[in-house]
Amino acid sequence: MAEPFPLAPSLWFATAPAAAATPPLAQDVSADVCVIGAGFAGLSTALHLAEAGVSVVVLETHEPGWGGSGRNGGQVIPGIKYDPSEILAKFGPVAGEALIGFVGSTADLVFDLIAKHGMDVPHKRAGWIQGAHTPAMVETVKRRAAEWQARGVDAQFLDKDAAARLLGTDRYLAGWVDRRAGGVQPLAYARGLAKAALAAGAAIHGQSNVVSLTRSGATWTVRTAQGASVTAPRVVVATNGYTGDLIPKLRQSVIRPNSFIVATQPLSDNVAGTILPEGQVVSDTRQLLLYFRKDHQNRLLMGGRGPFREPKDAADWAHLERVVGKMYPQVKGVPFDFRWCGRVALTRDFLPHLHEPEPGLLVDIGCMGRGVGLQSAMGKAMAAYITTGDRGRLPFPVVPITPLPLHALNELYVSAIIAWYRLTDGGMKDKAA
Ligand SMILES: Cc1cc2nc3c(=O)[nH]c(=O)nc-3n(C[C@H](O)[C@H](O)[C@H](O)COP(=O)(O)OP(=O)(O)OC[C@H]3O[C@@H](n4cnc5c(N)ncnc54)[C@H](O)[C@@H]3O)c2cc1C
Repeated sequence: MAEPFPLAPSLWFATAPAAAATPPLAQDVSADVCVIGAGFAGLSTALHLAEAGVSVVVLETHEPGWGGSGRNGGQVIPGIKYDPSEILAKFGPVAGEALIGFVGSTADLVFDLIAKHGMDVPHKRAGWIQGAHTPAMVETVKRRAAEWQARGVDAQFLDKDAAARLLGTDRYLAGWVDRRAGGVQPLAYARGLAKAALAAGAAIHGQSNVVSLTRSGATWTVRTAQGASVTAPRVVVATNGYTGDLIPKLRQSVIRPNSFIVATQPLSDNVAGTILPEGQVVSDTRQLLLYFRKDHQNRLLMGGRGPFREPKDAADWAHLERVVGKMYPQVKGVPFDFRWCGRVALTRDFLPHLHEPEPGLLVDIGCMGRGVGLQSAMGKAMAAYITTGDRGRLPFPVVPITPLPLHALNELYVSAIIAWYRLTDGGMKDKAA
């Protein structure tokens, strides 16, 4: 498989505050917990464990935030793919209500952590708009807004005119706005989490690729490519879209497509004022959704699916640049300064999966596209489970690792769907959008 696309070409790498030093693991150490992977999930786990007085060592192949966490759209959206009524139907009234409470609070956690730790993270909490691209989806978003509203959430259905006013484009039939949500500079947030975890006493080692994971009785040995090791009774694996073959069948339990983003040069105040004037972040109801926003320096970002493989050249982002031109003709001709991508992990049931394949080994995988809030909150929940031993502190049930049948074919299938959507310009040739 080709090397994954690097972090450095991203807008976020160019504009994030400096990272804390996280030198490679140079000697054998022991700890209460070893965390593998320094994205939002691993870093939040480490922060909350360290705050509880647990000794924790994080090992990361590259640097904190190098994976999906440093490359995403920075949209902090509470909830999961399923609406409250669907969650209740799936999990029953008791576990369902608890899960609704959990997924509804994920954005709060992110903004609370930024404030509590004084993180240097450009952010704005103006809400998230989901644009409806077909008449059927208009009904879906109307119901979705009503369900959350009935639970006291500051959410509203937007008819075509209201959506057009907030979006600055009339290409959606309607939408809803969820004002719990907002936008962050995601790499700045990942680096902020790392600094907070270090300050709380965690050890974090970058350039420390874990190559083996072995258990002898109640002790795990986690060894890096350089030959140094961490021994610990507990290990948390939080490698998500960058999962390799450390744990049998884990990689085969998810599909890991690349998601692509482009960002323009900073727009003039005149042009920027016509696009998302209140500063909401946006995604839409397409299967292969489009997501867009302005950053803190008035660049317009547009994200969506691209080829399943790693990109070859700028042409792999051209479909997103065309979408920008169609949705916001006033931006036509403004150069695109940044093109980047990253891998997300999708599970078959569109839920994050927690696994405990052996004693002391906890795995969190399958962030879908909601990982900024969700993985931050999963980290906090995993830390609570580890410190208390109470599985009830985990928001999702612990399930066996189940490889997707015909995994390689599934990845081909996803590539075919993505290719088809690219041909049709992400559906943007639809009159509706
Ligand atoms: C382009 C893109 C756009 C997205 N947009 C949004 C959005 O707007 N809003 C939202 O909520 N979510 C979004 N997501 C999803 C979100 O980014 C992820 O859900 C989240 O970052 C996952 O965090 P994580 O900690 O689980 O994994 P990651 O951040 O991917 O971290 C996993 C880490 O594990 C490390 N690793 C892997 N193997 C090893 C090993 N053997 N040894 C040591 N380290 C290892 C990797 O280097 C990586 O740093 C997007 C994702 C992408 C890629």
